[in-house]
Amino acid sequence: PNAIVWLRNDLRLDDHPALRAALEGGYTPVPAYIHAPAEEGAWAPGAASDAWRARSLIALDADLRSRGSRLLVRHGPTADALARLIADSGAEAVFWNRKYEPTTQPRDTALKKQLRERGLRVKSFNGSLFFEPWQLATQQGGPYQVFTPFWRAAQAQWRVPELWDAPARLPAVPATLADESAASLPLSPRPDWDRSFWQHWQPGEAGAREALEVFADGALQGYHSERDRPDRIGTSRLSPHLHCGEIAPWRIVRMLEPLRNRDNGADIDAYVRQLGWREFAHHLLHHFPQTPDEDLNPRFRRFDWAEPDLTLLAAWQRGRTGVPIIDAGMRELWATGYMHNRVRMIAASYLSKHLRYHWSYGARWFWETLVDADLANNTLGWQWVAGTGADAAPYFRVFNPVTQAERFDLDGVYIARWLPELAALPLPLRFAPWRQPEALATAAPDYPRLPVIDLDAGRDAALAAYRKSGPR
Ligand code: FAD
Repeated sequence: PNAIVWLRNDLRLDDHPALRAALEGGYTPVPAYIHAPAEEGAWAPGAASDAWRARSLIALDADLRSRGSRLLVRHGPTADALARLIADSGAEAVFWNRKYEPTTQPRDTALKKQLRERGLRVKSFNGSLFFEPWQLATQQGGPYQVFTPFWRAAQAQWRVPELWDAPARLPAVPATLADESAASLPLSPRPDWDRSFWQHWQPGEAGAREALEVFADGALQGYHSERDRPDRIGTSRLSPHLHCGEIAPWRIVRMLEPLRNRDNGADIDAYVRQLGWREFAHHLLHHFPQTPDEDLNPRFRRFDWAEPDLTLLAAWQRGRTGVPIIDAGMRELWATGYMHNRVRMIAASYLSKHLRYHWSYGARWFWETLVDADLANNTLGWQWVAGTGADAAPYFRVFNPVTQAERFDLDGVYIARWLPELAALPLPLRFAPWRQPEALATAAPDYPRLPVIDLDAGRDAALAAYRKSGPR
């Protein structure tokens, strides 16, 4: 008998609970991807992550073919596409790994019920998290809103699932099922502003595995202290792979733990803790499904956000604010689809505090341009920096982009990489070039002579607005 293995954010073969269930149930897996972005509402995948996913699907199809199977691609509505697939294949079962976004989860629950009513065997699994988002609860039975107790609870129940390697051969998908290749999905947005991205990445399971190996052999050593340095490759760059489910988080842990020695215990702990933030983000999104669009902290409903000036917003988006660390980050994002976490924090703080624009304007830009755009992580990241979210940095803690740059890009190497026009400026001028207008004009005649807003004035206005919004 055939079983549809409905693929979503789990574009891999190893550690794939749904594929495994099909094989262990004695079924021929029919791997299928259904393209239905409209069903994801306002948060349908952004352009960059959509392009990543199309490429990941091509890699997955190649992996399946090398094992004797293949990927079927269909277009939504999902319920109709699934019904047709079931009819065409005579499938008796449907298996999938759960997705946790607030728009698709109710759809999937409804589908499960309908399919079961039609007599199919249906089962869904946790394929992407250590814990289901609803599994950990406070003593009162509610959601956690602070990371440390959440993480303590996670560690108390820590049980890393066993690894499972997909077999080298998979049963062939029935030849009667029409091919519609993954390449039918657009590989780039139009116009293709992502052209320079792909030299930096290898979407797909093999790329994820390689990124993990590179990390384990290199940046893992010292991760604890170097992860905040945007000028180094100090992190794993696994985020887009994790978002698409090209690697299971527990495989990462299982691969890293045996490497533990006297020197790197703190590094491994710090890394797994970051995976913990990913879990926390999914926990929060599950319990507070409104948060991609609304401040979690109600105090901010009274907050005097500034009406965005579209010119200034564009200056932020395209790295022309005149503040080098911000501009370097935004240009890294535009050129690679990625930005270092520390710089994400600085750029987000600048938008939501110095410019005082509601964080959602920034979240939307990240959503379109990040290859790792992830509703749980992006929402948490923005609400955390803006001070509106759970366990957030308080709004009044305004990052000073100059001192942040001095502290984390100490040699100005990151700035020089993404703003080569400033590379000729000596330190510390490179962090705040407006302090010597003549030197700036000579080195970089096209770079903004002054920051688009005065940093002190922006900060003071943000703090005044915060005080005015009153006690909680
Ligand atoms: P590593 O340091 O190697 O971390 C390993 C993994 O842990 C990451 O791949 C990621 O899955 C997870 N992780 C690390 N830090 C965080 C965090 N703060 N929150 C949640 N998970 C984390 N991450 C996304 O995956 N998608 C997003 O859309 C996203 N938007 C963000 C927006 C803002 C404003 C901020 C401040 C952060 C955002 N992050 C987002 C979190 C973080 O910046 C990235 O996960 C990280 O930079 C990815 O690089 P890495 O894989 O090398 O990280």
